[in-house]
Amino acid sequence: MRNIEKIYIDGKFVTPRSIDHLDLINPSTREVFGRVTLGNEEDAKLAIAAAKAAFATFSKTSVEERSVMLQRLNDAILDRIDELAEANILEYGAPRMASTGRVRLAAANLMDSKEALEQFDFVHMIGKAKVVSEPVGVIGIITPWNASYSQITAKLGAAIAAGCTVVIKPSELSALQTQLLTECFHAADIPPGVINVVNGLGTTVGAELTRNPDVAMINFTGSTRVGKEIRRATVDSMKRVTLELGGKSPNIVLDDADFAKAIPAAVRSCYMNNGQACVAGTRLFVPAHRLEEVKKLARETVESMKVGLPTEADTILGPLVTEKQYNQVQRYILSGIQEGAELVIGGEGHPQGLEEGNFVRPTVFANVTEEMTIAKEEIFGPVLSILTFKNEEEAVAMANNTDYGLGAYISTANLEKANELASRIQAGVVLINGAGFEMKAPFGGFKHSGIGREYGIYGLEDCLETKTITGFDLPM
Ligand code: NAD
Repeated sequence: MRNIEKIYIDGKFVTPRSIDHLDLINPSTREVFGRVTLGNEEDAKLAIAAAKAAFATFSKTSVEERSVMLQRLNDAILDRIDELAEANILEYGAPRMASTGRVRLAAANLMDSKEALEQFDFVHMIGKAKVVSEPVGVIGIITPWNASYSQITAKLGAAIAAGCTVVIKPSELSALQTQLLTECFHAADIPPGVINVVNGLGTTVGAELTRNPDVAMINFTGSTRVGKEIRRATVDSMKRVTLELGGKSPNIVLDDADFAKAIPAAVRSCYMNNGQACVAGTRLFVPAHRLEEVKKLARETVESMKVGLPTEADTILGPLVTEKQYNQVQRYILSGIQEGAELVIGGEGHPQGLEEGNFVRPTVFANVTEEMTIAKEEIFGPVLSILTFKNEEEAVAMANNTDYGLGAYISTANLEKANELASRIQAGVVLINGAGFEMKAPFGGFKHSGIGREYGIYGLEDCLETKTITGFDLPM
């Protein structure tokens, strides 16, 4: 059993005040493998006080000092890469082939923040005014369960680079992963109070962070529903918020694209991270006269992907994170069938031989219309909806016909056209012809997909206040 009984405050692992606990459940078997003792509002207050006290000195550290700390955090994570990867497989169900990459990505975020810090101009002149960037203060970091390591390090890296101290409230479903990550933070010998980690529920620890006047900013990744609650809860204390929220990202494949590449890539994009990715391309738009070909390619792609135990080396799709998430995705699949979409492959229930865990049959629907629930709502499971268009105007209009605006994908042989379409799509990140993410570049959403940008220089800037000082003959 893996029992997590401590939280991390002021550089020490301490026992939380609450006795509430949650079972840790293996998503592949639904067996309990441990439990986590949850912190409460009082624990959050102690962590905030420690972060506030540490801020007084940490905010005055030099670029060189913080750069060394980011390097040490990166090294401490890579020192335990195999253990972190195993926890990601056990607790989250990440396929083995992706698990070490996910840890490397988390460490790389810290190196990107280090690079941004070393390049950043914290003081410059505008006319006769000196413009100074200062750390915003204590940051409350609230994260979901679907990419715990990298979501935490992206926010932590930006905060440390800026000279801010943090209280991290990880997802209650990522307790084991967070425990190991916190041990890495401890090993990196960061001054006490700079990094604090409090396990707990959103309604207790999360709520305390959002209302406490000593927290200057909330950096949140999670659902749009909770993001809106956080925005409301931070109004009175005038906190800054960065919100990375949900998505229903479009994938437009134009007639001139290489369908043999674009359609398999579209299926993989929708199914990334076991179908639990905020930027998953869940709405595939194709020319109406190519639908039969698209259905065939999509079916063949799904048939070639192994759904299985995440511990097996060739598994591409593992289980969903919880039974609740499994049931929710089942309801969406049923709604697609009931609302008249055509099931190309997949459907309700478990894949054969995987009845124990939260495994879903990877599913593709065709003849989906914009009014259907599966075309509108974020499903967070491996369910692809294919819609058709008559011309590009219609494709762009349908792509933008959503409250969300996180990612978008375009495939075409005409790169001028790709640029032109990208300029008309309402999304924070547009990926063309199978290009991957540039992790140093800004990431975030339009519309209900969020506020603010993360990663690299943009993430660092989000954690800074700007002060203008004007005077006569001021030294820099
Ligand atoms: P969630 O919104 O339910 O929870 C996210 C975090 O918020 C958890 O730590 C939770 O405990 C906490 N929380 C819940 N209620 C709270 C409250 N009232 N006050 C403060 N904190 C509270 O999201 P989830 O189910 O953990 O994650 C899935 C969602 O995250 C999806 O919608 C997905 O699209 C989104 N997501 C977005 C991005 C992005 O970068 N835009 C990345 C990954 C996931």
